Amino acid sequence: MKLQDAVVAITGGGQGLGRAMAEFLAARGAKLALIDLNQQRLDEAVAACQAAGTEARAYLCNVSREADVDNTFAQIVSDFGRLDALVNNAGILRDAMLVKVKDGAIEKRMTLEQWQAVIDVNLTGVFLCGRAAATHMIQGENAGCIVNISSISRAGNVGQTNYSAAKAGVVAMASAWARELARYKIRAMAIAPGFIETEMTASMKPEALEKMTAGIPAKRMGKPEEIASTVAFILENDYLSGRVIEVDGALRL
Ligand code: NAP
Repeated sequence: MKLQDAVVAITGGGQGLGRAMAEFLAARGAKLALIDLNQQRLDEAVAACQAAGTEARAYLCNVSREADVDNTFAQIVSDFGRLDALVNNAGILRDAMLVKVKDGAIEKRMTLEQWQAVIDVNLTGVFLCGRAAATHMIQGENAGCIVNISSISRAGNVGQTNYSAAKAGVVAMASAWARELARYKIRAMAIAPGFIETEMTASMKPEALEKMTAGIPAKRMGKPEEIASTVAFILENDYLSGRVIEVDGALRL
């Protein structure tokens, strides 16, 4: 796929990694449909993309709501005339131990609400957006690509039963879609980032940050642009499909 004039939808495009992807692709001529929950942040991200000289639009949408998602993707195709790619990037954390024991007694457990909130956004949201995007790509009879943002935590991380399950699930979905949708020239891939510098990590205590960085073989966190450039690499390489690319400074064993 050529990035110039490709219409790319990014969920969670208003901030963090999603915004970095949007600006990276905008600078290479792609047209951006940014999906997020916060209008102000969306407007700022759209303005940054437009400043690169490309077309960009904001869509307020909760990716875990079926009607919201279907309406949003119909609107994107109506506004831009087509959809070439989707990056399923929106995600949340609700970390908790499965069962927490203190002084020999069970203190608390991951609640069903914590489990369900993460599954709704990080797993069901990816399913709903992927389904909507594939529908329009097939109807438009154009080749396409879907990129699911997973995480190093997909291998199973302490305190992240919900997040790990969802992030493993989105890799499996990319694999299933790659096989199912190849006949329509639609590719599907996943990216599993390690620790990446974002607003969240910027607000961590320096000691905690130092300890975390020391455990990464590369001895530094990844930069949002390094995830964004991986998205661009995937979009541009038409023989990549059904796989996950790990971008984690060799942290994962
Ligand atoms: P972030 O800064 O929290 O950005 C995520 C964006 O998604 C936010 O703008 C958020 O909006 C939006 N969002 C949340 N729920 C949504 C929903 N239901 N519908 C639509 N938008 C929603 O996160 P990030 O660090 O950039 O991470 C982006 C992705 O990379 C996530 O999937 C994350 O799991 C993954 N990842 C990140 C890292 C890392 O080190 N940063 C590492 C591995 C994987 P609000 O803020 O308004 O809720």
